[in-house]
Amino acid sequence: MKLNQIHNQKKNVLSFEIFPPKKDSELKNIDATLEILCELNPDFISVTFGAGGSSNHNRTIELAKKIKYKYHVEPVVHLTCLSYDKKDIDEFSKILAAEGIENILALRGDRNPDIPEKDEFHHASDLITYLKNTNDFCIAAACYPECHPESANRIDEMRHLRKKVDAGAELLLSQLFFDNSCFYRFEEDCRIAGIDVPITPGIMPVINANQIRRMVTMCGASLPKRFQKIIYKYGDKKEALFDAGMSYAISQIIDLLTNDVNSIHLYTMNNPIVARRICEGIKNII
Ligand code: FAD
Repeated sequence: MKLNQIHNQKKNVLSFEIFPPKKDSELKNIDATLEILCELNPDFISVTFGAGGSSNHNRTIELAKKIKYKYHVEPVVHLTCLSYDKKDIDEFSKILAAEGIENILALRGDRNPDIPEKDEFHHASDLITYLKNTNDFCIAAACYPECHPESANRIDEMRHLRKKVDAGAELLLSQLFFDNSCFYRFEEDCRIAGIDVPITPGIMPVINANQIRRMVTMCGASLPKRFQKIIYKYGDKKEALFDAGMSYAISQIIDLLTNDVNSIHLYTMNNPIVARRICEGIKNII
C-alpha cells in the first residue's frame, strides 16, 4: 500500500527505520529483529540505503522484500542520488517496481570524498522530479526541523523543501531531534510556506552517550537541559541510561501525539528491545 493511502486510512501512523546489516554474518540476526519489530504492528518500515556499492543496495532490496512478503508489513526503500545517473536510477526503479515496492524515500545522500558523484542529480528534488516522471512510486522526502547542516538559513531551507514537495513528495520524514519545540516551530514554518503534506517526526531513543555525541556532531540536534542532565547523571551507567533514554523518547512521543501530530517514525537502530519498550509505553495512546 502507498504511504499516502496509509495516512488517509489511519488516525495515527507508527513507522520504524532499520538499516541492512553490513556483514553477511549479521544477516542471520535480522530475522529475529524483524520478527519482533513486525509483531509491534508498524504501518511501514523504511530501510536505509548505503552510500555507493551495489552490494549495499542489494541488501536494502532484499530486506524490503522480506518485510513485505515474509512479514506482510509495507516497506519504504531509501534511495540516494548523488552518485548515480538516470540509467542507474532507471535500473534500480525497474527492480523495485518488479518486486512490488510502492514507496521510496528520495534522498540526495551525504557528500563523501571517497564516493565519486555523477552529474545528473544534484538535489533530492531532481531525483523526485525524475522518479515522478518515469514511475508510479509514492515518494517521501527528508526534512530537518533544525535545518540541514549545509543550509544557509531557515528561509533557504523552506524554499528547498517546498521544491521537493512541488516536485511530488507526498510525505516528509524528519531528522531526529530532542527538543519538540524545534519540531513545532518547523511544522508551523512549513505550513506558512504552503507545504501541506504530512510531516512525520523522527524519534531516536538514546541508549548510550557515545551515540548521542555522534548524532549531535552529524546532524547538529540541540540538546535541551533536561536531556543534558540525563546524560550527565547516567551517561556512564548503561542500564540507568537505557531507562532514562526510553522514558525521554516516550515523553517526547506522548507530547507530539498530545499536540495532534499524528505520525511517529522511530529510528530503531535495529534494536527490537528499544522498539518494544517504546511501543509498550505508548500502546494506549497511539
Ligand atoms: P536535499 O533535499 O537535496 O538537501 C541537501 C541540502 O541542499 C540542503 O541544505 C538543502 O537546503 C539544499 N538544497 C536542496 N535543494 C537545493 C537547490 N535546488 N539549490 C540549492 N540548495 C539546495 N542518507 C543515506 O546515505 N542513506 C539513507 O538511507 C538516508 N536516510 C535518511 C533518512 C532520513 C529521514 C533523513 C532525514 C536523512 C537520511 N539520510 C540518508 C541523510 C541524507 O542523505 C543527508 O541528510 C543529505 O545530506 C541530504 O539529503 P536530502 O535528501 O535532504 O538532500
